[in-house]
This record gives sequence, structure tokens and C-alpha cells, in this order.
Amino acid sequence: MTKRVLVAGGGIAGTVAAIALHEAGYDPVVHEAHDRDSDERGAFVTLAVNGLNALRDLGLDPVALLAAGFPTPRMVLRGASGQALAELPLGGPLPDGTATTTIRRADLYTALRTEAERRGVPVVYGKRLVDAVPDGPGVSVRFADGTSAGADLLVGADGLHSRTRRALDPAAPGPRYLGLLNAGGFTSGPVDPALRPAPGVMQMAFGRRAFFGWAAAPDGSVWWFANPARRTPVEPGELTPAQWRAYLLDALADEPIPATELIEASADVLGPWNTWDVPRLPVWRNDRIVLVGDAAHAVSPSSGQGAAMAIEDAVTLGRCLARSADVPAALAAYERVRRPRVEKVVAYGRRSSSTKTAGPVGARVRDAMMPLVMRLLYRKGNPQAWILEHRVA
Ligand SMILES: Cc1cc2nc3c(=O)[nH]c(=O)nc-3n(C[C@H](O)[C@H](O)[C@H](O)COP(=O)(O)OP(=O)(O)OC[C@H]3O[C@@H](n4cnc5c(N)ncnc54)[C@H](O)[C@@H]3O)c2cc1C
Repeated sequence: MTKRVLVAGGGIAGTVAAIALHEAGYDPVVHEAHDRDSDERGAFVTLAVNGLNALRDLGLDPVALLAAGFPTPRMVLRGASGQALAELPLGGPLPDGTATTTIRRADLYTALRTEAERRGVPVVYGKRLVDAVPDGPGVSVRFADGTSAGADLLVGADGLHSRTRRALDPAAPGPRYLGLLNAGGFTSGPVDPALRPAPGVMQMAFGRRAFFGWAAAPDGSVWWFANPARRTPVEPGELTPAQWRAYLLDALADEPIPATELIEASADVLGPWNTWDVPRLPVWRNDRIVLVGDAAHAVSPSSGQGAAMAIEDAVTLGRCLARSADVPAALAAYERVRRPRVEKVVAYGRRSSSTKTAGPVGARVRDAMMPLVMRLLYRKGNPQAWILEHRVA
């Protein structure tokens, strides 16, 4: 039986996959490119309730694991003059009280890696995979520090710009830029109650040049994100922190929401990150390499589903490998189960991204129509139930 598993990437998909494979009787070792405390993208994530259910299916307690976060089961969408257009469910609470949870990215990664290590899964840092080649019945992996390692199975959980994807299929399409930048931040402590929204409700506003979201944390601070529209992706180092702050303040100036006040109340403005998704990848696996999470199918952040999809992938992979000792057959079963669902969610996320900014006419139509459209859409229940109520097979 295949035993040694090298997991490339210690983010969400990688750590959960390692836990799931360990449960299935394999010996995974997570190889993470960064140092223990440096995490790549995004200030915080809103982890949807379907991802939390998948964690529970793995025997984890999502409430305890995500204790550093706070529940955000609802969102309010606001139009050009700040008015509420619709209040919509984001997921939960489930009968046991679990709800879609917003958590600092670093806290989520730390919680998952600590749990993996507690279960006996080693996580090694500073190991950036640069290539993987067949080696007998297994695979040999080369790292950027010049070292290499062998395994029977390689799980590529190395995110959006995955090198494992490239090793698996040199012709694989790369990520596509979605025309939005991303920023995030946390106010430096509690803010004036007038700036603080109701607890548990993520506020999201369609500004003229940028989309803005904000939520109240239990300590009285406010966590926020912004998506200014920009035709081309930002290059690394193109904007200094001061220029980036000024860029955002300009993009959100004169909006009837507390965006500029919240940015000014934050010591750091994180980002800029570009927004990408990954179009349909023809190859997810061969007989000894498999992709999970963003490496296989990055979903636009606008869907709020990237993290949950990564977890669902990881748990499904573990289940398929637990059910069949025939590894290639198990990897094929994993792809069969996951591909239709994630491709539908990627398409949904892409549509959400494209509605985040609109010209003046489009904005007027949107603001006039959305309350009615949402009422009609939600008349017979939550149209996102297929996403949020999904259970891993
Ligand atoms: C700004 C922003 C905001 C977002 N907000 C949300 C949100 O609110 N809700 C949501 O569900 N999703 C959100 N997403 C998407 C979500 O973050 C991703 O879908 C999710 O993190 C995917 O998990 P992953 O493990 O596949 O990738 P990642 O979490 O990116 O983890 C990949 C890991 O691999 C490591 N790595 C990279 N290259 C290598 C290599 N060559 N070798 C070894 N290790 C490597 C990285 O350091 C990282 O730790 C957001 C994304 C962005 C950019």
C-alpha cells in the first residue's frame, strides 16, 4: 500500500488533507514554503459553514478550532447611497450553533497546523517545491533550498500559483486576473460605536470605484476589506504601503459608508493582492500526483468559498483513499466527486466578481432592481443552499 505522502503547501487544503490522509492510514509530511509565522495572502477569511461541516466530518471541532474568529452568519448588501439593498444568509447557524466564521488568516493557519502536529503529522517549513518527477513507482520532489525528498504520493496544495500543477501538466492554464485588487485591515483597537456595525452581520457596499466590506469583531475593533477595480494586476513592490493606503482612500473617498474612517483607524493596510481564479484545469491528477484547493481550482474571493472548497477537497481525498487501497482509482474517484461541484462554484464566484463594480448607469439599475430580485430569488428558500448545505460524500 502507498504510504509516504508529501503534501506541498501548509495552507488550508494542505493541512486538512494531511490530517485526512493521516486518518486514512497514510504517513503525510507537510512541506510549507514559508517560515512558520509568515502567511501569504489576505488579512482574514470568512469560512463558510459547508467548510466547517467538512471539518466536523473529519472529526475536528470547528467551534474550538476557530475560537479566535467570530460568527458572521449574515450579510447586508448596500447600494451607492449606503442604503441596505438586501440582507442575506452567509451560512448557519446550524442546530449546534455553528455558523459561517470570520477569522484572521494567520490564526486559521496556526490552528490547522497545530492540530495536524498534535495528531502526529510533521510540518516542515522553508520547503518550496520547485519540481516533481516520477521516480520508480513514486515521485521525487526538489525544493528551492537544493534539497529533495521522495514519496509514494504527492499532494499539491501549493495554492494559486502551484508548482505542482506545472509539474503535473506543463501545459496547464495559469490563473486569470479578475480586474479587482484586494486590501484588508483591522482597526487598531475598538472604534467609535457609530462606525461599528451590528455583530454577526458582514456589511458589503458597492462603492463607485471600489467594493468595501466590514464587520465588527467582539473586541470592538472592525475588520475590513476593499476591492478597488483595476484593469491590470499590480506588480510586486509597485506600490509602497503609503501609496497603497492613499490609493484606497482615494478610491473610497466621498462614499456614504465609514470606509475611509476605518482605513484611517488601522495602523496597517494589508495588500495589495490581485484577484484571480483558475479556469478549468484539464488535469488534476495522475497515478501519483493530485491537486487540492486553489492549486486545482481557485475560486474568486467574491464567492466566499475558496477556503471551504479547499477543505471539502481535502476531506473528500482522505475519504477516497480510505475507501480504496488502489491509489490511482482513489484519485480518480476524488476527481469524479469534486470536479463538477467546484467548477460550478468557480463559475458562480466569477459572476459575483463581475458585479462588484458597475458604471453609474449600471449602479442605478442595480440599486433599483436588487431588492426586488433578491426577494424573488430568496422567496422559495436560499438559492445558495446547494453551496452552503453541501455535505462531503
Ligand atoms: C485577498 C483574498 C481574500 C480571500 N477571502 C476569502 C474568504 O473570505 N473566504 C474564502 O473562503 N476564501 C477566501 N479567499 C480564497 C482562499 O484564501 C483560498 O481559496 C484558500 O486559501 C485556498 O487554500 P489553499 O490551501 O488551496 O491555498 P493557500 O491557503 O493559499 O495555501 C497554499 C500554501 O502553499 C504554500 N506554498 C505556495 N507555493 C508553494 C510551493 N511551491 N511549495 C510549498 N509550499 C508552497 C503557501 O505558502 C501557502 O501556505 C481569499 C483569497 C484572497 C486572495
